[in-house]
Amino acid sequence: MSDNLFTLLGRKALVVGCDSGIGLACARAIAAAGASLVMSGLEKERGEALAREIASDSGQSVHYRAVDVRDEASVEALVAAATGIMDGLDIAMNNAGIPGPAAAIQDLAARDFDNLFAINVRGAWLSMKYEIPAMLAAGQGGSIINLASTAALSGLAYVGAYSASKHAVAGLTKSAAIELAPHNIRVNAIAPGPVQTDLLHNMRAGRSQVSDVRPASVPMGRVAQPEEMAGTVVWLASQAASFVTGSIISVDGGVIAA
Ligand code: NAD
Repeated sequence: MSDNLFTLLGRKALVVGCDSGIGLACARAIAAAGASLVMSGLEKERGEALAREIASDSGQSVHYRAVDVRDEASVEALVAAATGIMDGLDIAMNNAGIPGPAAAIQDLAARDFDNLFAINVRGAWLSMKYEIPAMLAAGQGGSIINLASTAALSGLAYVGAYSASKHAVAGLTKSAAIELAPHNIRVNAIAPGPVQTDLLHNMRAGRSQVSDVRPASVPMGRVAQPEEMAGTVVWLASQAASFVTGSIISVDGGVIAA
């Protein structure tokens, strides 16, 4: 074990879905902590520019690959490319997610439910489906970090399908953690409260159109910045979290406590 429990020096990390928001902030922090990095998402040109910027800031090898997590071949190709570029895979953060349209349970269209689950749940599962064999092949253990939400731990009115999708991510995370514990591959999720990103903006705008429901109150009295998720993610990726697996870790300014 390294003297610096929190370093990611020499580690090989993939972040799935990090064009913006939490994923982008965590990608920056993972590279800054010393890992080589493959970023991915839907915005190839912008993503490649961001990868160059993060490589220059961190001094690490950083690449970007396009992926749509709804497409199995695209996810398989991403993990193969990342494993090839970095000669292995130790850390995977599965971040891709959308809020879906705000609607009462009875008003949500089936195609919107299916699209939300295709990205938030099937996308996280597909990512793990290809990341796990890559980690097993290296035989060095690993750390997978999924994106749940406080909406994985309680309901959220007028975005019920989103809440259900995040409960599903929590279930996948805990089940994978049990399966992979003998191989020293740890699988956890973070459950952010409200974080200032496009997703939160769209979710709040949509909910205010369909109801007068107020945003859940945050004991700390503010929403988080995306960078405030990064410390927990780097910790989970590092040796400092060597006995942490199957946990859904709230990073929420006290939302769940309240
Ligand atoms: P965001 O919209 O800034 O980022 C979402 C990212 O998902 C995009 O950058 C994109 O790269 C990726 N993505 C979306 N659809 C994709 C697809 N089909 N294929 C590949 N990538 C795709 O929003 P964010 O708030 O940073 O969201 C990141 C994660 O955090 C999501 O899973 C979200 O559910 C979760 N989350 C966000 C909040 C919040 O308040 N912002 C709270 C709890 C959980």
